[in-house]
Amino acid sequence: MSDYYEVLGVDRGVSADELKKAYRKLAVKYHPDKNPGSKEAEEKFKELSHAYEVLSDPAKRDRYDRFGEAAFQSGSSGGFGFHDPADIFREVFGGAFGGMFDGMFNFGSRRSHAARRGDDLQYPITLDFLEAVKGTTKEIKVRKYDLCSSCSGTGAAPGTGKTSCSRCGGSGQISRTAGFFSVATTCDMCGGRGEVIKTPCSVCSGEGRQQVTRKITVTIPPGVDTGIRLRVSGEGDPGVNGGPPGDLYVVMRVREHKYFSRRDQDLLYAADVPFSKLVLGGDIEVPGIDGEVTVAIPAGTESGHIFRVRGKGIKRLDGRGTGDQLVKVNVVIPSNLNARQKQLLEDFEESMGAKSSVKKKNIVSKVKEIFS
Ligand SMILES: [Zn+2]
Ligand SMILES: [Zn+2]
Repeated sequence: MSDYYEVLGVDRGVSADELKKAYRKLAVKYHPDKNPGSKEAEEKFKELSHAYEVLSDPAKRDRYDRFGEAAFQSGSSGGFGFHDPADIFREVFGGAFGGMFDGMFNFGSRRSHAARRGDDLQYPITLDFLEAVKGTTKEIKVRKYDLCSSCSGTGAAPGTGKTSCSRCGGSGQISRTAGFFSVATTCDMCGGRGEVIKTPCSVCSGEGRQQVTRKITVTIPPGVDTGIRLRVSGEGDPGVNGGPPGDLYVVMRVREHKYFSRRDQDLLYAADVPFSKLVLGGDIEVPGIDGEVTVAIPAGTESGHIFRVRGKGIKRLDGRGTGDQLVKVNVVIPSNLNARQKQLLEDFEESMGAKSSVKKKNIVSKVKEIFS
């Protein structure tokens, strides 16, 4: 057995900081995961960690300085068992590397007893356009897990209890030795719970949960659109080991409407308007979210013009106001005129004669200008 100071390559007066630095450098170099299959590196790593364990503790270092390694031989009186080299390594590097080494060196999961929140669930729902715009309530049926109603989630038949798992002795973990690392794995007999059920509940076969179909009434606020997710708190799967349940997310899909569409908070509608109305002006009635909406058309409105009716659009989900209704007017050209209507229009055209000829002359001169 070599001298602990020599093992770490430091002299007898080394400071705690220098000692740690020396250990780190060598521990990384000889770590078994960096030297797979090398017995020599494994032995060296073990030696390093023993040396560091003793020298980093002032009381042990003092004892070592006076009595040498004999003071630490296991079995002898006053001796002690060394810690797992992996634990020493993790203790020294833990702060510097965060959790990185945990995953790398497979120290095994030690969380199996921990309470865990239940999974979140998603439920897609399809709404009509006006349901989405005005808000509605829907009753949905969700297939999900719930705590068993017979055993309240314990998995044990009513009136019976649990016993400590015989395989893992109640720890939920089984340690096995890989090289000199002790690797903890979840006990396969109790699934990490540390206890087993004597008489399983007949309703859930000891699982503690059962699949149920839950009817849930969902209140959908006005203004939702495709892709919006509504959270229904606590309606996901139940928690594990006493953890809280997950949430249910209701995901919206909104059908298209025959006449309406939306652009953000604005409701869009296209209205067919007789050409005489556009020419002469006047009010028109168009459908809106809450009944008819009146739009005032000024005389001489062009086809395709868009009118904005303030506050008649879609509510914002955050409650901060309401959009507008945009009404686009499309001219309707009358066909199948009767004799009188035809006559009226011909008279109208004739009365516009002077203006028309001016326009015509204009066009002719423009054409000449372009092609001359
Ligand atoms: Zn049960
Ligand atoms: Zn077990």
